[in-house]
Amino acid sequence: MISNSLSFKKNNFNQVDNEVSKKNHLRKKIEIIKESGQREVFCGLTGIVWLHRKIKDAFFLVVGSRTCAHLIQSAAGVMIFAEPRFATAIIDEKDLAGLADANEELDRVVLQLISRRPDIKILFLVGSCPSEVIKLDLSRAAERLSVNYKSKGIRILNYSGSGIETTFTEGEDACLVSLIPELRFSESNEKKLLIVGTLADIVEDQMRRVFNKMGIQNVDFFPPRKSDALPEITSNTHFLLAQPFLNQTSKSLEDFGLKRISSIFPFGVEGCREWYLAAARAFDVPDKVFENSVRSSLERAVKSLESKKQILRGKRIFFFPDSQMEIPLARFLFKELEVELLEVGTPYLNKKILGCEIDFLPKGVNLSEGQNVDNQIERCFESNPDLVICGLGLANPLEAKGISTKWAIELVFSPIHGFEQVGDLAELFVRPLLRAKKLSKLNNTKEEMYV
Ligand code: SF4
Repeated sequence: MISNSLSFKKNNFNQVDNEVSKKNHLRKKIEIIKESGQREVFCGLTGIVWLHRKIKDAFFLVVGSRTCAHLIQSAAGVMIFAEPRFATAIIDEKDLAGLADANEELDRVVLQLISRRPDIKILFLVGSCPSEVIKLDLSRAAERLSVNYKSKGIRILNYSGSGIETTFTEGEDACLVSLIPELRFSESNEKKLLIVGTLADIVEDQMRRVFNKMGIQNVDFFPPRKSDALPEITSNTHFLLAQPFLNQTSKSLEDFGLKRISSIFPFGVEGCREWYLAAARAFDVPDKVFENSVRSSLERAVKSLESKKQILRGKRIFFFPDSQMEIPLARFLFKELEVELLEVGTPYLNKKILGCEIDFLPKGVNLSEGQNVDNQIERCFESNPDLVICGLGLANPLEAKGISTKWAIELVFSPIHGFEQVGDLAELFVRPLLRAKKLSKLNNTKEEMYV
């Protein structure tokens, strides 16, 4: 639990003045289509796939059904004998009928797990639809179990990955919120930078090098690679989101008095430049030092886009709402690769976090929030896209109709942040177009053979 000494005064920090926030005043009017109805998205359990790879001494115990176990097993693609750092405590018919004490069962599973896996330092109890339905109070279970295992140095936390009214990236958001009370808070006034959002280790290393070149040495990443590396927070910590879907995490950090640095996200050359610039401005880095720190990476990134631009320029792209990364990715595709955006759908739109991204979208673009899948499919067919970014559930039927697709979830799994990954990010959109071209050539050749 967080001590009272940590209640920093919220408005104690200087306002961060950066180019992006200036642009907010010039915001263009973009109509937002609000949709509600049937949705086609994964649940928050999916976040375990990348979170368990990131926090290397954490274990994720889903308290759910066999469906949850199948989902997490197949999404992660890890064999059981590989001893992955996730599992499912199955809620069966007896639990659902209230005939068994689910808490007793859970205690037994946790005991078994910790006896077999002494390397676990943080255990996340992850709620699901079934555990919500039977109203199993996982926060109380986590508190109870934390007391039992405190002497072994094991933290037990909980969050919900339930698919009831959530989308899959909210799993990471909920997980990070549960970790915030575990951050070490100090009374010091040391100026620090906290990068928030799961990033591949290699991307973190690249970013740390750029920040260090700018003279920002006190940089931490959240979540950390290991539980003993949880960052220390001071009353002068500024945080910069690396992922656009961390709405609750951002709010919780601000509630603790941390100052959010407003910026667009580090996707594409422009996104990365603005993102580093926002940090530079917040840390009073002279413009010349900033430019020198990013120049070589930026030049390489610009070069890496050249061949991709030739393929993507003018292509008509439609985003279904799925990962909450749609708006920054659409901005990158429009501004740097000159695609035509037909619709940009997002499950939720937090204007506080994404407002500055919207400024970069073309005037008149169809921006939709929420989902009514039937209406969206209709709009998608009518607009005749070259490429659709969507969830797995929609991808196959659309492919069957001859429409090229890219799975939104792949954009969350892949390292796409930062200057060094700009070319790889563009490549993810190029690949389905090239595959479609090859398939069409192959089909034409077959037809010719039968003529
Ligand atoms: S949490 Fe809900 S939506 Fe997700 S796999 Fe389990 S039952 Fe399905």
